[in-house]
Amino acid sequence: MSDKLDNLYRDILMDHYKFPRGNKPLPMANLENEGHNPSCGDDIVMRFKLDGDKIEDVSVDCMGCAISVASGSMLAEIVKGKSVEEVLKIAKVVKAMLKGEDISTETNGMDLGDLEALRGVNKFPVRIKCALLSWTTMMDALKSKLNDNNITNSTTEQ
Ligand code: ZN
Repeated sequence: MSDKLDNLYRDILMDHYKFPRGNKPLPMANLENEGHNPSCGDDIVMRFKLDGDKIEDVSVDCMGCAISVASGSMLAEIVKGKSVEEVLKIAKVVKAMLKGEDISTETNGMDLGDLEALRGVNKFPVRIKCALLSWTTMMDALKSKLNDNNITNSTTEQ
């Protein structure tokens, strides 16, 4: 990766950290979950306004390091208006990307937008959990919702 790209990624991360996109009240939320990353001390509260299987809006309140806040902000930006299924797919790609896996097949036709900036995080293993916090917190919340509604067949999946 070139230094130029590194700088670009850092600028994107810092912009999300300074101006977190999902940091707002969401009084109409009907799904909520909290997450904690003990290795860094990041805390997150996420609220979702679901309409059927569509995420109408999301609020992300993260008190943590720059990476955790920026990642939560990017999440808020990309998941709004998408279906639960789409969002779980994106979360899977983000996880793979942070682990440094090849994601070219999964991202086929998918626009990751600013999420590309998280690529650089896999060089700092201690930071991967920070970047993952919002995604795992969201996945837990959405999976519990799917189970509630019995609209998933994969009941054995944990
Ligand atoms: Zn952190």
